[in-house]
Amino acid sequence: MAELNTDVRYIKGIGEQRAKALGKLGIATLGDLIAYFPRAYEDRSLRREIASLQDGESAWVEAMVAAAPTLSRIRRGLELVKLRAVDATGSLEITFFNQAWIRDQLHTGDTCIFYGKAEVKGRRRQMVNPVVEREGGQVMTGRIVPIYPLTAGITQSMLVKAIRQGLDACRDVLPDPLPDAVRQEHHLCHIGYAYEQIHFPQSADTLAMARRRLVFEELFFLAIGLKKLRSRRTAAAVPPCREADLTPFLSALPFTLTGAQLRSIAEIRADMASGRPMNRLVQGDVGSGKTMVAAAAVYNAAQNGLQSALMAPTSILAQQHYSGLSPLMERLGISCALLTGATPARERRELLARLRSGEIQLLIGTHALISGDVSYGSLGLVITDEQHRFGVGQRSALSAKGHLLDQPPHLLVMSATPIPRTLALIIYGDLDVSVIDELPPGRQKIDTFAVPGSYRQRIYAFLRKEVAAGRQAYLICPMVEQADTVPDERKAVTEYAAMLQGQVFPDLRVACVHGRMKPREKDAVMAAFAAGEIDLLVSTTVVEVGVDVPNTSVIVIENAERFGLSQLHQLRGRVGRGRHKSYCILISDNQNEETRQRLQVMTRTNDGFRIAEEDLRLRGPGDFFGRRQHGLPAMKIADLSCDLSLLREAQGAAEALLAADPTLSLPEHHLAAERVERLFADSADAMN
Ligand code: ADP
Ligand code: MG
Repeated sequence: MAELNTDVRYIKGIGEQRAKALGKLGIATLGDLIAYFPRAYEDRSLRREIASLQDGESAWVEAMVAAAPTLSRIRRGLELVKLRAVDATGSLEITFFNQAWIRDQLHTGDTCIFYGKAEVKGRRRQMVNPVVEREGGQVMTGRIVPIYPLTAGITQSMLVKAIRQGLDACRDVLPDPLPDAVRQEHHLCHIGYAYEQIHFPQSADTLAMARRRLVFEELFFLAIGLKKLRSRRTAAAVPPCREADLTPFLSALPFTLTGAQLRSIAEIRADMASGRPMNRLVQGDVGSGKTMVAAAAVYNAAQNGLQSALMAPTSILAQQHYSGLSPLMERLGISCALLTGATPARERRELLARLRSGEIQLLIGTHALISGDVSYGSLGLVITDEQHRFGVGQRSALSAKGHLLDQPPHLLVMSATPIPRTLALIIYGDLDVSVIDELPPGRQKIDTFAVPGSYRQRIYAFLRKEVAAGRQAYLICPMVEQADTVPDERKAVTEYAAMLQGQVFPDLRVACVHGRMKPREKDAVMAAFAAGEIDLLVSTTVVEVGVDVPNTSVIVIENAERFGLSQLHQLRGRVGRGRHKSYCILISDNQNEETRQRLQVMTRTNDGFRIAEEDLRLRGPGDFFGRRQHGLPAMKIADLSCDLSLLREAQGAAEALLAADPTLSLPEHHLAAERVERLFADSADAMN
């Protein structure tokens, strides 16, 4: 008797070697196998008689091989097998390219299924490279056929056959994690039916039914998981923070805070005073002044004797936060330190000792701040900058680590990725949200132009003029994406920089920075750029988040069509951070109408939320849900570009279920509880 956790080698035809290949696809057990969903489908159900084949249509025929196939070699590396097949209505010429072995497989008199695209010219009917199957053994034809992502050593038909066996073996032991009541209320089919139809759909309708059920299931458990995560954190009691007098903080600043900044700070202080750990996201457009909001939170924590950790996604950003914040913190009597991968071992040891003793009140660095051997005397506040790189798994790990500390820390997440409300609801399901919807006064609009590559000389002349006026610029480097190869960003950046230095700007100071550099090298370049020792900085998108060099006035983005609007907006936010009139130049030779429209949006508005809405409208939410951007667990099947309304429904169902049974301890929720438990487990482990 097979179980879901039975090894895949249980399947006939899967031995050591194939099991290993399947392992690469994440398939180790029968349960994994049947949960390996197709990425697409091809409808191969249309059946024709030979005489009724229409030119250009894809269909299958059942026909007899009328004469022995012939093999001919047209030229080196091109072999043709030709044969004629007939049914009661007519005759079909069939050609196979470079599949010489087929000649020996098909014999005169064999009846076979041929599926392919028909070419009909007059009375002549042809198919090139059709799928061939024996009559009575139709697996890859005669129905809606699933298409699975593959790996070396595994073919479509191999997977289909294995999954068929897997489903047959597991049908009776397939537990349904969706409670019956939920299934009925939302008209969702049973899990056995869903698995059957997702792999072997009878029709487009049954496939849609199966998909709906499986997508719902996935979103439902995600929503429950996020809510549980939140309640797990907020269930803990922590000593309430006193709302410290902010006057010293405010008067140490060189400017007055905006109303939106003050409102966010008030919300944070109220959270910290509530006796529960804070879980707050501060969302604000680039340049809206999130860092000062974070600084106020640090100040509030320090006044309550609590240490803070500020995490940035890259060491460049950590460095920058450190240089930006430490003078202010010193003025306020708060000692702060920087810890990155580049910190020398000895310095690191000393620093960790000072951290344990509580002498350091604010530690700035990368993710390493809350991992491994870093321990705090009294960590009370964790701030992460640029949330989309700090995923749910990490939030979950952090809350787990909280139990190792005396108390779970307050969590403040800052994001410059404006996300439309509907999506924010799920991505940040476990967080409260503050929005900074106001920019500091005096900000100028960044003039944005979308131009073709033929403008390059004029752009170079413009850059020269800006540099002569004392400004600096970013050039975001083009990356040629070749099929099947990962673009080599180091090569692209260094070559482009060398070209600019050698041929265009021999007299200017050109430097480059890319993701493959060692943190120390990167930091050195960024420091030189910030100090004004570099005129033109060629970069990939490592400057995308947060870097602040107020003297820059131009950003040139090559191959702008490759970026999402929100990402372009982030990049643009690198300029216009000082008092200089700033420009963003988007270069693209792409003629595609949709691309042109997208780039036009950039030229019309500087408002990040509006841009995000437009991006959503033009491209669908897929981008927001790209795993890298938000760190949610990978979705097996849900594609939020079409599943938004289902998302809302699943979320409602999750809320209702938790309202009725907050701990999921009723027997009928047992499987659901297990499923939620596993949901963030993988990503959380990665942190520890
Ligand atoms: P972001 O929200 O993109 O992280 P920052 O916190 O880096 O924005 O702030 C951008 C710039 O605006 C910084 O140079 C910061 O010192 C400045 N700034 C922040 N708040 C104000 C304010 N209320 N008035 C004027 N300038 C401000
Ligand atoms: Mg910032």
